[in-house]
Amino acid sequence: MTRISDLLAAGPTWSFEFFPPKTPEGATSLRAAVDELATLAPDFVSVTYGAGGSTRSTTRDVVVEINTNRAFPAMPHLTCVGHTRAELVDLLEDYRAHGIHNVLALAGDPPADGSDPGGDYTYASELVELVHEVDHFTVAVAAFPEVHPRSPDRASDRRYLAAKLAGADFAMTQFFWEVDHYRRLVEELGELGCDTPILPGVMPFVNVAGARRMSAMNNTHIPDSLQERMDEVADDPEATRKLGVTVATELVAELLEDDVCGIHLYALNRANSILEIYDNLGINPA
Ligand code: FAD
Repeated sequence: MTRISDLLAAGPTWSFEFFPPKTPEGATSLRAAVDELATLAPDFVSVTYGAGGSTRSTTRDVVVEINTNRAFPAMPHLTCVGHTRAELVDLLEDYRAHGIHNVLALAGDPPADGSDPGGDYTYASELVELVHEVDHFTVAVAAFPEVHPRSPDRASDRRYLAAKLAGADFAMTQFFWEVDHYRRLVEELGELGCDTPILPGVMPFVNVAGARRMSAMNNTHIPDSLQERMDEVADDPEATRKLGVTVATELVAELLEDDVCGIHLYALNRANSILEIYDNLGINPA
């Protein structure tokens, strides 16, 4: 049984994030990406979950397939908004039955149109409690270095996050473009007496408009210097991808100097950018 909390304690870990494919072609290219990235011997991978359960079975199938057939564990993301307790318990029991012992517990976003999502839960901390009731999973939670977009202020964001982390084994962060945001998060949690490991997330972007849109949605500031670099490549897909690799390499190198517990790379279901980041850093797979 591999617990990610143990891996982090012996870190730094290297991990990749995938999303569940929507089409048979997407499933084929995800398998190819997992095959290629397996050569890097990651410590674990994670698989996202569509809020409200839109990818319930595809997330589950990808996680079970990787966890069963690979030498590294797969951790499902799971959101609670819009779900009943019974639905979540079913899924957690299914994961347990398939030897999955690590779960990323999230709230998920409420519907964009403001309608009532239904279900029994509002906050991720409630899902953390439920996961512990079902079994001894290692539980990860989300952290937003630049404050969650729905938080009314920084102080309450940090207070709720520290309270959530009191019941969790580690946090994984939203992506950021300046390491100082991550450092400040760790420092502010420390001031609240929280020293739970905070695993930084790094996204090698492949599309300028997409990176800008996701940054705006997540409250992630893009510094002027990066905006200018993005402007220069915006019309050239390969130059954009290369810039995404360069920026991610710079972030990872700086994070490693800080002795972080690990690096979580948003693989976006492709291998090439991740392979190039490893190459740039001179990392040899184990
Ligand atoms: P919470 O921790 O519940 O926080 C949400 C907001 O509520 C914050 O503003 C917080 O301060 C506030 N809050 C918390 N507790 C309380 C309380 N008791 N009273 C009042 N306010 C409170 N989404 C997906 O749909 N699928 C995914 O796979 C996915 N993966 C993610 C992975 C990572 C690493 C990250 C960082 C985010 C991910 N998300 C995913 C996005 C996430 O679901 C959304 O950002 C969601 O809006 C918040 O989730 P949370 O778990 O941070 O919520």
